[in-house]
Formats: sequence, structure tokens, C-alpha cells
Amino acid sequence: MKTTGPSAQGSVGLYGGTFNPVHLGHLRAAEEVAEQLGLERMIFVPSARPPHKNAADGDPIAPAADRLAWVEAAVRGNPRFSVDPIEVEREGPSYLVDTLRAFGKRLAPARPVFTLGCDAFREMDTWREPKTLFTQANFAVTTRPPLRRGSLSEWLPEGLGGAFEIADDGLSACHRDAGTWIQLVEITALDVSASQIRARIREGRSVRYLLPEAIHDRVVSSGIYSVRTPE
Ligand code: ATP
Repeated sequence: MKTTGPSAQGSVGLYGGTFNPVHLGHLRAAEEVAEQLGLERMIFVPSARPPHKNAADGDPIAPAADRLAWVEAAVRGNPRFSVDPIEVEREGPSYLVDTLRAFGKRLAPARPVFTLGCDAFREMDTWREPKTLFTQANFAVTTRPPLRRGSLSEWLPEGLGGAFEIADDGLSACHRDAGTWIQLVEITALDVSASQIRARIREGRSVRYLLPEAIHDRVVSSGIYSVRTPE
């Protein structure tokens, strides 16, 4: 499906995440959003200390320096992709609102297109300053299994919907005051997750063709995901 809706042609995309580790689901989502929306660039922004994710049940979060290096290696060779260490270099937890503020200054008067999966999008009301986030950037929200094509009227976090005028097809929405927009982007469904990859490594199972080839050996041999960390 070709996405229609607000124009993002030539814009800069940002793709945030823990990338613990980066996998083919991330790379393909970024590629399809960049292609469908006509983005000039897609900048991956690995978080340093994600406020939402804890090392639950001893499931480790790799050091930020490793996660950053893996993303750098994984995107090398794609002329549209790059990585920005802004969150890793910043002190304290990684809040998107701070990152968007920084990119807003760099790119002004243009606004970045922050890209995320619908699973993360539905929880944005738990992030810091959610109302502000939607005035700082435009948002591309991708499908992600098991969620398929949906409507922004279902997916917009409660309490934030009122700020937007949602198109009749439910695929795009425009902020009433800020002029920013949200666009749903339907992408190839790849049911891959970092937690599934970590579990497979822990169990000594194959993760080939789930991880980018360029980082496969490094991630597995790092031993970071091979053992449970003590709680
Ligand atoms: P975990 O399994 O550890 O929770 P994850 O695979 O969800 O990790 P994150 O780094 O937390 O990876 O995700 C960063 C962004 O990438 C989020 O917006 C998420 O929705 C999106 N994403 C991750 N995997 C996919 C996928 N397979 N398809 C589409 N989007 C994805």
C-alpha cells in the first residue's frame, strides 16, 4: 500500500529505540517508512537508559556503547541511514522530549518525522510530556505484528486524541494547534523482537537471519545475552 496523507517528502526521519540488539524488524521498518514517505534520511537514535525498560527477570540490557556500535555497523552501507549518539552522550535517562528539542533546533524550521511501531505509540501517554511531544515533531507510526492495519482513533493514546483532527480513513491526523501530523504506515510484517532474540541466544539457539549479518557474530560472541544477570 502506498501511503498518502501529509507530505513528508525530503524530511529527516528519526528512529528511536533501545536496540537491545538492533534487528531486521527495525531496519526494514526504517527502510519502508523512508521509502513510503520519501524521507531524505533516517537517523537511528539509540537510547542510553530507557526509562521504560528494566532488566526484568535478569534479561540484560547491553551497555549503551555496544548497542550504539551494533546499530552503526548494521546501517553502514545504506546511504539514507545514519546513527546519532545524542542520547548515549547525554547524562541521565533518555527522554524523547529532550531529543526532539535538540533535533528541533538543528533542523528548524523543518520538523523531524519520528518513527515508531504502533505498540510503542499506544503507550506514549506514559512518556514524559506527551502533549509536548506531538507539537515538536511529525510522527510515522508503523504496523507491527500482531497489530495490523488499524485506525488512529483506536491507537491514539487516551487523553491525546482531542488535540488532533483524524482523517476519515483513520490513517492520518493533524494537530489542531501545532500543525504537526501523525501518519500510519503499513509495512511488511516481520514478527521479530529483540526480546525474542535475547531469549534465543540465552537458550543457545540460532539467531541468524534475525540479526543483521554484519553484527551477528559480534552480538553472539559478546556473551552479553548468554546468561541471566543476577536480580
Ligand atoms: P524488546 O523486544 O526488547 O521490547 P523491540 O524489538 O520492541 O525490543 P525496541 O528497540 O524496543 O525493539 O524498538 C524500537 C522501535 O522499533 C519501537 O518503536 C518498536 O515498535 C519498533 N519495532 C521493533 N521491532 C519491530 C518490528 N518487528 N516491526 C516493526 N516495528 C518494530
